[in-house]
Amino acid sequence: MANKAEAVSLRKGLSEVVEVILDHDSFVLLEHQKPDGDCVGSGLALVQALRSLGKQALLVSDDPHPAVYDFLPGRRFHTRAGYLKPEDFHPQVAIFLDCTDPERAGRGLEFAAGKVWVNIDHHVSNRSFGAVNLVDPTAAATGELVYDVINELGIPIDKDIATCLYVAILTDTGGFRYQNTTKETHLLAAELLERGVNGSEIFDCVFETRTVSSIMLLSKVLSTLKLYRGGKIASVTLTQEMMRASGASSEETEGIIGYPRSIAGVEVSLFFKESDEPGKVHVSFRSRSLVDVAAVAQSLGGGGHPRAAGALIDGTIEEVTEKVMSYLDKLDVWTDF
Ligand code: 5GP
Ligand code: MN
Repeated sequence: MANKAEAVSLRKGLSEVVEVILDHDSFVLLEHQKPDGDCVGSGLALVQALRSLGKQALLVSDDPHPAVYDFLPGRRFHTRAGYLKPEDFHPQVAIFLDCTDPERAGRGLEFAAGKVWVNIDHHVSNRSFGAVNLVDPTAAATGELVYDVINELGIPIDKDIATCLYVAILTDTGGFRYQNTTKETHLLAAELLERGVNGSEIFDCVFETRTVSSIMLLSKVLSTLKLYRGGKIASVTLTQEMMRASGASSEETEGIIGYPRSIAGVEVSLFFKESDEPGKVHVSFRSRSLVDVAAVAQSLGGGGHPRAAGALIDGTIEEVTEKVMSYLDKLDVWTDF
């Protein structure tokens, strides 16, 4: 088996993570709230890999997995935090996946109390909160790091595990289109394809299959489009009322931010989403090439990557829009282009 880890020096923290896994028998794998494809794919890959070693392992998320990932293998090893009592499940180790900080796991955090914490993530804003930390912002997806862990453990990567890892990488690179996509990302994707992954079928399932309700919702959200700063900032807004009227679920909002982002001349795009938690608005940030939106989101209580970030902010849509716009106004980048 070609071993990618042998070709390059080991990532910092990798051998410590592998040691913790080899030294223990039972694991809870924790995803962040509103899990995305990277989180779901990384979790399902790692839970199957640990099980193949004869370990006890369960993948736990606070929110449900988006239905679009229902085709992925390993779902029988996944449950939601609300469906299981922490006192009924006593793993030795909690592995946080794709979480900048432990709170991102939401109610999943209840299963981590008193356990050994392993932190596997690729966000620049990661707080290195684990007893061992495999955090590498140069990785396009947490799935890349999970691949290294599985490989280093000597576990054969079968088609099922490869499919989950492929989805993790495919989704966090926006289909190999974002700046985080490197030669290494493509080499790893090629290796996963070699294990039997059906790339075109997965692309069709993940990116080209939409529900009618999501298209109805898209039309409503796009009608809210606003431009600021002479067209350098674009925003769209989603209210709970639009959700009700379209019959869409929150996961069906995935991908909408791509529309304002694609407008010629737009540097920063914003998606204001009225949260189902009353009095809060989730903001998604994207930037094309200049603005570090991870820093913007972090200063507003969230986090993310330089070109894609998010934050959950207190207030009404109007108040949160005002807060974000006045923060962006203070940046001194607008005259640079
Ligand atoms: P999205 O806009 O697709 O929800 O998220 C983009 C990126 O920002 C993802 O990497 C995600 O992990 C991060 N992100 C989104 N929302 C939040 C949030 O509320 N808090 C933090 N810390 N990160 C977030
Ligand atoms: Mn990720």
